[in-house]
Amino acid sequence: MRARDVIYELEPYEVENKEGLIYLASNESPFDLPSDVRDSILREVHSTAFNRYPDIMADEIRIQLASFLGVGEDEIVVGNGSDELLLYLTVAFAGCGRRVLYPSPSFSMYRYYTAVAGAEYIEVELNEDFSLPIERILNLLSREKVSMVFVAYPNNPTANLWNRDDLLRIISSTDAIVVVDEAYFDFSSSTLLPYLHDFPNLVISRTFSKAWGLAGLRCGYLVANRDIIDVMKRVKQPFNVNVLTQLAVKVCLQNRWYVEDAVKDILKERDRLMDMLSSIGGIAVYPSYTNFLVVKGEGVTAGDLYRMGIVVKEFFFRGERFLRVTVGKPEENDRFVLAIKELMSSESGTAEKDKRD
Ligand code: PMP
Repeated sequence: MRARDVIYELEPYEVENKEGLIYLASNESPFDLPSDVRDSILREVHSTAFNRYPDIMADEIRIQLASFLGVGEDEIVVGNGSDELLLYLTVAFAGCGRRVLYPSPSFSMYRYYTAVAGAEYIEVELNEDFSLPIERILNLLSREKVSMVFVAYPNNPTANLWNRDDLLRIISSTDAIVVVDEAYFDFSSSTLLPYLHDFPNLVISRTFSKAWGLAGLRCGYLVANRDIIDVMKRVKQPFNVNVLTQLAVKVCLQNRWYVEDAVKDILKERDRLMDMLSSIGGIAVYPSYTNFLVVKGEGVTAGDLYRMGIVVKEFFFRGERFLRVTVGKPEENDRFVLAIKELMSSESGTAEKDKRD
């Protein structure tokens, strides 16, 4: 028995081997939890029963999030990473015969969720300056029957923030579910959460994998109106967030100060990295509202950097190659800058080498 044809068109999501390398490819926080927060988690682990299933809706997390965000607990669903919830949402609202629209390039998984759910995708190419082609999107929404729209705010991999009024025009022009993916909210401080009660089709998605430094534990959440959360309850696996993750996230929510510190440090490092890169001839760096930078340099590839022990991601847009580089620790960023300088100054760091990748 074969799976549906579309499944074989998807490449398995792979990450490069990290062993002994400087890893700046997954937009994780470079900082692990502060030791006192980690100790509080470990103390709680001792009194945790592993033989029992976890709380079905991760209620302790929902209660804390609800008061922190100023929404009802029944307007939140918690998942094993926001990835899991975005897949459920697509399966529920955009299954077979339905359409999902999203800008391109954007988070690569939107295409996967759509294909796995059996829906069709409409990818709308961004303008040259990475902004949203808003009129084209509104036009498509009025012409085509679309069930779901994804917009990453700020966008991954381009690091920019869409115009908020454009997003509001999209949300108000359609009854499709519009997912505003705020995975990088902690760095941008811009959110559409205040509009939650104005639009029944608005879903906000957030994650603990970035600024909160919990990528390894897998936890994310959606905020949406009660009817959408009710659908998610019907679709989701019963015990999707494990006991250890629930208790660690609960402790982290009680110690939010460490996130503010981490964000401050990462943004400072991002500015320093940006300054260092901008001063290198032939290198372009783009504005960022996230914990990563978009960098372009003639002939500089992720493959070159990998051979120098540094892992970054690259993406192609309108025929050009861009690097997406996560802000790391100061010494990692210094090594990255040094590698770029070496590549730019070496004769082979040009289009000639480009041909090999
Ligand atoms: N949305 C965006 C825009 C992302 O960049 C990521 C992580 N790369 C996710 C969602 C998924 O995050 P997680 O599953 O770790 O919560």
